[in-house]
Amino acid sequence: MMRAKALIAAVFLGLGTAVTGQGTAAPHPEQALLEDLVVANRILARQLDILDIQGHTSTRSRTNPNHWYMPKFISPGGATVPDMIEYDLDSKEVHGARTDNAREIYLHGETYKARPDVMAIVHAHTPEFVAFGMSSVPLWNGDSPVPVWDIRPFNRGRSGVVSTPALGRAMAEELGRSEAVLLWGHGIALTAASLPEAVSRVDALRDAAQLQQAAIAMGDTWTPQTRAATEDPARTWEYHKKAVVKATGGRVPISPEPPPRPSDPDRATAHDLVLANRILVSEELRILDTLGHVSVRNRRNPNSYFIAPRVAPGAVTLADLVLRDLTTAQPDSDGLSIHDEVYRARPDVGAVLYARTPEIVALTHGSARLRPVVNGGAFIGNGLPEVAVDPRNPILANPALGRRVTDALGKAAGVLLPRHGFVLTAGSIYSLVDRAYQLRQNAIIQRQAIALRGRVAYLNERPAESAQETGPGQPNQGQQPGPTGPAEGRAWVYWSQIVPLD
Ligand SMILES: [Zn+2]
Repeated sequence: MMRAKALIAAVFLGLGTAVTGQGTAAPHPEQALLEDLVVANRILARQLDILDIQGHTSTRSRTNPNHWYMPKFISPGGATVPDMIEYDLDSKEVHGARTDNAREIYLHGETYKARPDVMAIVHAHTPEFVAFGMSSVPLWNGDSPVPVWDIRPFNRGRSGVVSTPALGRAMAEELGRSEAVLLWGHGIALTAASLPEAVSRVDALRDAAQLQQAAIAMGDTWTPQTRAATEDPARTWEYHKKAVVKATGGRVPISPEPPPRPSDPDRATAHDLVLANRILVSEELRILDTLGHVSVRNRRNPNSYFIAPRVAPGAVTLADLVLRDLTTAQPDSDGLSIHDEVYRARPDVGAVLYARTPEIVALTHGSARLRPVVNGGAFIGNGLPEVAVDPRNPILANPALGRRVTDALGKAAGVLLPRHGFVLTAGSIYSLVDRAYQLRQNAIIQRQAIALRGRVAYLNERPAESAQETGPGQPNQGQQPGPTGPAEGRAWVYWSQIVPLD
């Protein structure tokens, strides 16, 4: 994480003018609270790695107990004060209807309604929490097990997110008087008496989850114990707040604009591909190493695609991209046959990735195969097809492999190359990057859940979920569409803000 943090700091330090340019609007009556809400989301996303691109933290108003605030449909690590929306206890916008609300407002609204003592809520998809939620082994919060809410009886037998008032009420009922509730195939909702307490408590509970995982991994049995009484939320809060505002020169964090996208369509596609390479290599995602590659179909001529065949993804620039024509037979010494054949066979595919991500490859041999354990991994369905790779025959000079991969792929989202890597496809470069992220998260969670040595539940055990593409940042299937948000998806917008091009 250290390298990523240094990069983030560098991005912010270059923003002096933008920071001073803020502040023209009149301050909000609860400005200090909203600034703390920005800080809480950043601490949990960037300092503690508890919130992913889709989690969020909210707070109840201090002046009106029937109102509360949370960020719009945006990645929490990039949320700023103007992104905060005020809601009432029915999760209705106080200042007029909007179309950019987060989909899970009811998780927060119904909890504030049911629990007048709650002043702040964290909703996260942290791997440790999802892993315990999918294992028969309980997560102990001190000496009480954290309840697990199974959404399926309330959602036509399927997993999903808390995107309706009825789902919010059902979740709040399972929460009861507990501090937190695990959400099956999804994450956690944790309540607190203040934002500092929320940050401190969710961090402590994740630590507790890791301790229990470690004890079990070493063959011990976890003994539940009373929670330590000496916790000081203010100390944790002040320490991390300092780190967050340090990156912005002591001011309330704002977010940089993503790098401008060229207006020329070819240049815009090429720009996206350079960015995708950098994002996939970044410590936020860790999908690509020095040998994998990603390509994107040329929108203006679908019989061609862009790729940087001869450069490590972390070093790709515009000058390294080539446009490869599918209509003529071209020599391949760079492993491009996989891309050639997938684009030929699947007109719906707009982007292709070949990678060797260890967390994913770890679930391609042995008895444990990659299966969906979290909403974001639902597209894995009943398992991805596999193509065996001969380790004596380098994949980067193996034209026949492309046809075998395409034959196995069929209509699936990707193909596993056991003990070696995987190929992933999507309709757009934005969906592809998001899918790759979700695939690795799913693999991390699955491994953690198996390591707890209890019974593991999988998303595909009940009525199979559709493997249709749901678009970036909208992993759950079969529910009403979410708000529009940016066309590239909030995850792409966030990653392109924090991953520098050079
Ligand atoms: Zn969620």
